[in-house]
Amino acid sequence: MKLVSTRDTRHSSTFRAAAAGAQPPDGGLWIPASLPRFEDMDALLVLPWPARNAEVLHRLLGDEFSRHELDAIVAEALDFPIPLAEVEPGVFALELFHGPTLAFKDVGARFLAAVLARSVTEPRTILTATSGDTGAAVAHAFWKRAGFRAVILYPAGRVSPRQERQFACLGANIHALAVEGSFDDCQALAKACFADAGLSAELGLTSANSINIARLLAQALYYLEASAQLRSRDLADPPVFAVPSGNFGNLCAGLMAQALGLPVKAFVAATNANDTVPAFLDGGAYTPRPSVPTLSNAMDVGAPSNWERIAAFAGDPTSLRRTLRSDRFNDDQTLAAMRELAALGFEACPHSAVAWGVLKRRLRPGETGVFLATAHAAKFPDVVARATGREPALPPALADLEHAAVLSKPQANEGESLKKTLRSLCRD
Ligand SMILES: *Cc1c(COP(=O)(O)O)cnc(C)c1O
Repeated sequence: MKLVSTRDTRHSSTFRAAAAGAQPPDGGLWIPASLPRFEDMDALLVLPWPARNAEVLHRLLGDEFSRHELDAIVAEALDFPIPLAEVEPGVFALELFHGPTLAFKDVGARFLAAVLARSVTEPRTILTATSGDTGAAVAHAFWKRAGFRAVILYPAGRVSPRQERQFACLGANIHALAVEGSFDDCQALAKACFADAGLSAELGLTSANSINIARLLAQALYYLEASAQLRSRDLADPPVFAVPSGNFGNLCAGLMAQALGLPVKAFVAATNANDTVPAFLDGGAYTPRPSVPTLSNAMDVGAPSNWERIAAFAGDPTSLRRTLRSDRFNDDQTLAAMRELAALGFEACPHSAVAWGVLKRRLRPGETGVFLATAHAAKFPDVVARATGREPALPPALADLEHAAVLSKPQANEGESLKKTLRSLCRD
């Protein structure tokens, strides 16, 4: 698969090199130079999830991976169910939270790990800054994987104890560092390490952040799965997909699925108060701004890093405004949506509730709607309790962790000190 930069298409990369962290030299992001349109989409949608994934990936990546490798990657990474639940007539939740860390980020992180395991020859240190879900997904994806070590930087005391345990109790090749600072400080520290060419080469530093194209490619696969499950219920009309969005990687993956030939009626970009994109789609200027904290905190992004991809992919603003519907939900509306969903028998996390609420506003009569349920409600027990009056039941993956020991180490908010820590971790 040939990838080109969003800014200057003369810069290109292989998929393997981009997955392993190569960046376009012009500061842009990699996008596929072109995507094939599958004329046999109907036949693809009849295939079971693993067979369809292997076939689609073979058509896209067959120039870089053998069929055997792709079968193994699919079996290893995309090994949990993605059920479609009918929440009310004509409105469905695509449940993306049945992976090991109970959020959709497992899909991209596990696929990336499986790809890297077959693409790099020297030992690698995966360095990632997290405010919650990403760190857990990345830590689990690389846990006990030979040739890899993962270092998770997180702001001490600013992630929930449950989130912290999801990445800080694993041990083995996973190192959690509790930084005396904010999430932005963690990101700045990671950036400083990647910018140090000597350190990067010495430790094989590799990023697993959400702009990695490998993560997006894997996510395109579950849009096909949603349509496959709708068809098995005799719902053949192209659905409207509502995507709870922060960095806009998930929506970008949806647009890729559509480009591959998946019939889609429309996409709905759903945000919280961080509404840079809805404000633009409403007709305003595109104005990135600092994020504000909300209850759906994984979507607290004011300058979405994948927007550049979506803009390059979709072409001019007019055609973007034609393909995308959008709106935002504030925290009160989010809590009300969680309450209404609970009354319908669906326990939602705040992110999924934003998607459902905005979908309901933007869905037109007769359309079938699918909202992406991106995390399990039990990852956000306080918000769920505030909305519904009772805490969600703990799934086994989280219950097992309640008494596990947190193995993280304190880390000063200072670049040289972090580099020293990394070097000593990598000597062990
Ligand atoms: C990361 C995340 C989002 C936002 O996804 P993007 O791809 O960044 O738009 C939404 N919901 C949950 C639960 C997340 O963890």
